[in-house]
Amino acid sequence: MIYKRSSELFASARKVIPGGVNSPVRAFKAVSGDPVFIKKAEGAYIYDEDGNKLIDYINSWGPLILGHAHKPVVDAVIERAKDGTSFGTPTELETKIAELAVKMVPNIDKIRMVNSGTEATMSAVRLARGYTGKEKIIKFSGCYHGHSDSFLIQAGSGAMTFGSPNSPGVTQGTAKDTLLAKFNDLDNVKQVIEANKGEIACMIIEPVPGNMGCIPPKNGFLNGLRELCNSHDILLVFDEVMSGFRLAQGGVQERMGVKADIVCFGKVIGGGLPVGAFAARDEIMDYLAPVGPVYQAGTLSGNPLAMAAGLAMLTELYENPGIFESIDKKTKYLHEGMEKVLKENNVPHTINRVGSMISVHFGDEPVVDFESSATSASSGKFNKFFHGMLENGIYIAPSAFETWFISEALSYEDLDKTIEVVGKVSKDL
Ligand code: PMP
Repeated sequence: MIYKRSSELFASARKVIPGGVNSPVRAFKAVSGDPVFIKKAEGAYIYDEDGNKLIDYINSWGPLILGHAHKPVVDAVIERAKDGTSFGTPTELETKIAELAVKMVPNIDKIRMVNSGTEATMSAVRLARGYTGKEKIIKFSGCYHGHSDSFLIQAGSGAMTFGSPNSPGVTQGTAKDTLLAKFNDLDNVKQVIEANKGEIACMIIEPVPGNMGCIPPKNGFLNGLRELCNSHDILLVFDEVMSGFRLAQGGVQERMGVKADIVCFGKVIGGGLPVGAFAARDEIMDYLAPVGPVYQAGTLSGNPLAMAAGLAMLTELYENPGIFESIDKKTKYLHEGMEKVLKENNVPHTINRVGSMISVHFGDEPVVDFESSATSASSGKFNKFFHGMLENGIYIAPSAFETWFISEALSYEDLDKTIEVVGKVSKDL
């Protein structure tokens, strides 16, 4: 495939945008080479500036669970835009999407909209601190919660991809209040709590992490965290920016039957427009301004275009819950197909999957946490795999630490083609 125009556009972009991108992982730096510039997309496919058609497994890093340019979402945005793009006032749409979200997600009474996943997690932690009157938080190595200061401590996703999980610019004052624990290791979490008794406001976790690849929580791990939080008066914050409205209508809380105190959303809830949200039961949410003392705000929060897109998306997921079963089935099919061809070609690998989140790792050991994910990535095989896939029309995330997101727009023919390409590419790994 030819990527000439993409390379030219990248050269221009680099002159006026740091690294040519507005979010680091897009730059293909980790896998080397120039990023693909996308011109348009429809359903399961994206079309780049050179006219190449690619099967998309990134789906805007998760939001597009029903595929690109999904008609009800696009129509809702167009119709809404005709009546104005932003008012900075309350609108009926905001109540409608909030009512629907509260109906779909267990254990929440109220939800507040923001503009990104980063804002959602940042605000959730401020709320947890304000509510409990405590300052420290526990975060898990390899989990990514956006780019606000408290979270850039052994962070996953782009931070891990570029070897800067602890970013310069985060003050020591901030960093000292973020305690690190190991994912899938309850004893370690207990030790961290014991060493900081009475000081921990909340623990924030991706209950199914997707930012060190996809890591299934071990049996009893999330329930164990719930019990620890109960016994130590710690709020449990689920960052469901990736998993929310994807792994089930009610996210991981519903799928795995574990109750969180505060839940963060992003991606699917905005239907591809910039939306994040955080939600909890009344007594916690009423700590927020203007009712309570914890300040949190946003000029474009609840923006009518974003709410129209989000409402169209959630409505479809609410009315057709079979979509979740369907994408899970498609992902299982892909999993089994890839497993088969990788085995045939004697490529040591692990495929991790929960529902419609899946990741492929190269190496002999199971990938269960930050360390094992990093070890498998260090084999160097992923770069070759990535470029082989791209060369054959399959677009996966340009980093060994990212998860593939399956959309309902993918057909079984698309999945078969993908498996065939994995077979072809893995012959040379
Ligand atoms: N939390 C999780 C689990 C995420 O995956 C991400 C983004 N990938 C974020 C938070 C941050 O969201 P955003 O990029 O919208 O700020």
